[in-house]
Amino acid sequence: MKIRKVEKAGNIINDKACILVVDDEYRLLKSLENMLLNQGYEVQTAQGGIQACDKLSRHSFDLVLLDLNMADMNGHQVMDFMTKKDINTATIVVSGESSFSAVSKALRRGAYDYLKKPYDPEELLSTIDSALQKVMLEKAHTSMQSRLKKSEELHRYIVNSSPDIVFMLDQKGCFTFLNSKVESILGYKKAELIGKPYQSIVDSADIQRANYIFDEQSSKKSGAWSSEIRLKAKKTDHTARHFEITFFPIENNAKSKTQIQAKQVPPVKSKIIGTYGTARDITERKEAEEFINFQAYHDLLTRLPNRALFKDRLNISIAQAKRNKAGVAVMFLDLDRFKIVNDTLGHAMGDRLLQSVALRLESCVRKCDTLSRFGGDEFTLLLPSISSAEDARTIAKKVISTLKEPFMLGEHEVFVGVSIGIAIYPDAGCTVDELIQNADIAMYHVKSRGKDGYQFFSDTMAVNTSNRLSLERDLRNALDQNEFRVFYQPQINANSGKVIGVEALVRWQHPERGLVYPGEFIPLAEETRLMSDISDWVLMTACKEVKGWIDNGHKDIRLSVNFSPLQVEHPKFVHRLLARLRQADFPPQNLEIELTENVIMNDLENMVQKLSSLAEHGLKIAIDDFGTGYSSLNYLRKLPIHTLKVDQSFIQDINDTQNEACIVNAIVSMAHGLKLNIIAEGVETKAQLEYLKLLGCQEIQGFYFGKAEPGDKALKLINQSLDHSMAC
Ligand code: C2E
Ligand code: MG
Ligand code: MG
Repeated sequence: MKIRKVEKAGNIINDKACILVVDDEYRLLKSLENMLLNQGYEVQTAQGGIQACDKLSRHSFDLVLLDLNMADMNGHQVMDFMTKKDINTATIVVSGESSFSAVSKALRRGAYDYLKKPYDPEELLSTIDSALQKVMLEKAHTSMQSRLKKSEELHRYIVNSSPDIVFMLDQKGCFTFLNSKVESILGYKKAELIGKPYQSIVDSADIQRANYIFDEQSSKKSGAWSSEIRLKAKKTDHTARHFEITFFPIENNAKSKTQIQAKQVPPVKSKIIGTYGTARDITERKEAEEFINFQAYHDLLTRLPNRALFKDRLNISIAQAKRNKAGVAVMFLDLDRFKIVNDTLGHAMGDRLLQSVALRLESCVRKCDTLSRFGGDEFTLLLPSISSAEDARTIAKKVISTLKEPFMLGEHEVFVGVSIGIAIYPDAGCTVDELIQNADIAMYHVKSRGKDGYQFFSDTMAVNTSNRLSLERDLRNALDQNEFRVFYQPQINANSGKVIGVEALVRWQHPERGLVYPGEFIPLAEETRLMSDISDWVLMTACKEVKGWIDNGHKDIRLSVNFSPLQVEHPKFVHRLLARLRQADFPPQNLEIELTENVIMNDLENMVQKLSSLAEHGLKIAIDDFGTGYSSLNYLRKLPIHTLKVDQSFIQDINDTQNEACIVNAIVSMAHGLKLNIIAEGVETKAQLEYLKLLGCQEIQGFYFGKAEPGDKALKLINQSLDHSMAC
């Protein structure tokens, strides 16, 4: 029976339909109740209108069978009550009254149907059935509506509370929908963008990319497309923010796709009717990434590229130079005196100095060059395509002169110099590491000569890389293993032929390589800071040995000792030196210390104090390799200098050109004018000797008289010279 179906259909209450039967005639009421109970309905009865209203207020029914003519309260009044109380229960009027007005009145009040008494039971049951069907459908509809509404609200909530901007575009790329995030993130009102093309908020730099992606996705229908695109923010002056935007094409027969895949229906040509997309603000992530990237490849103090970026660029430059058969220059720059500033004025000032140095260095280089901070006070400079070494020389000179100007750090005026080593590809190396290392080696050659200057790497400096490592290791052991030796080269009085002094020169008796000369290990020793210890050892050893000679009758013999810049710069230089002399019981007036001009010029004010103090103790001071550095007359007046040692390069050219001789002439006459002692170094021939004698140069040192020899041989030579003065 149909009724069962209704009942089974769940009747919204999920089991039996519940019917209220209202009639004031008890007999009829009971017969209706029984009939309906027999049909499986749940039934309640009300004998009269008042009781009906009471039950309707307290219970919920699916259907009311309502009599019209009732003594206490008629059916119309019950219906009015229901309207008033908003009780929507479907009502079938079952009445003896069949006047048109009564029927129409009942129907107008919302009755579902009207049956006249005496009713035909079949007709009544069929009317109840269809009324309940309607009730069920209405309830299902209402429930569906409410579920839809809830679902819509949920989706709206999800879309609006999404952290991303959600949008829809039509086929032309104009906005048809935007969630409210567009306002909080970019500052646009939704209404002002609806109907506008997406290009109106895309940053001009990314328009082309956005167009490409939009065109691709709307023509190929190939699923989602994602890309990073910058959008203009309205609220912050159209500054761009970074977004990760994902586009999904909207097809007009989206459902058919799944069916096609399941091979249920033949493929239908789908059409893209718009785009759905999300835009996620990744600005903070981008900025963090950029910062991390910057940090990974830059030095944060000077904001210059760091070692990693420098090596990367050098690698590229080498590859390009290989193709173009061009040159590449790598310069290694090390600041002189930076440590002094850092130690005396503090690290904050040291940092400021590095920043100022970086700015000045940047002014010396071109856009295509790479200047990097390599670490500490070391900088590297890459000149990616040079036509000749002269280009690098020009830059090196420029850098040196730029850094010569004093730096103002607060109220302090600070002077720093720079030592530059230059390695040119391919002559000085073909790989990144070779070039950097060789520039570094060349730089240490500048340092070992007293700093401030530049030097190109040459093969003679090369202690090849693997040798270099083993050399460094051996060098560290050499002092402990007692492998260093002091050799003495005689210094002769040109007129008498007598040995008046000796220069102590260090040698390294290497267990495998034999006798190693200082040119091969001093730069590395300077670099590794072992030079202080080595020079100190030379001083002690020479003092002890020569003290023996002095005690044995050579009381005027002069001992000349070379000093490393590392030793001289030390704040306790004077104190340490005097302590050493006391330790060796060496008479200070027999000692001459040899310094290069650059060592003196690096810190002139300090030098005046240190050297004056040594001179007061009777020590003598010689300027070694004179003529190759500043050759400034100024410091000669300020400092207690006793001797100038004319560099051997000027002596060796005496025979060749008059020019060089002119320099020697000038130096000798200047020394005479300043009442300074003068020693000519590197005299190898009789002609050189004669020329120097003519000039009035009193003291000579060079292979012509003898090389540096171990102490016993040197002593023999001294004795011989005293016995029958040497042939001059
Ligand atoms: P320097 O002080 O100018 O020493 C003179 C150098 O010239 C020595 O080379 C010596 O052997 C070389 N020489 C002397 N006469 C002639 C000559 O007639 N012709 C030529 N061609 N060369 C001559 P050496 O011993 O190889 O020393 C090189 C440099 O190493 C020295 O130059 C000095 O700056 C440094 N040095 C040597 N021993 C020490 C040391 O104990 N401490 C420090 N700090 N430096 C040292
Ligand atoms: Mg010397
Ligand atoms: Mg010299």
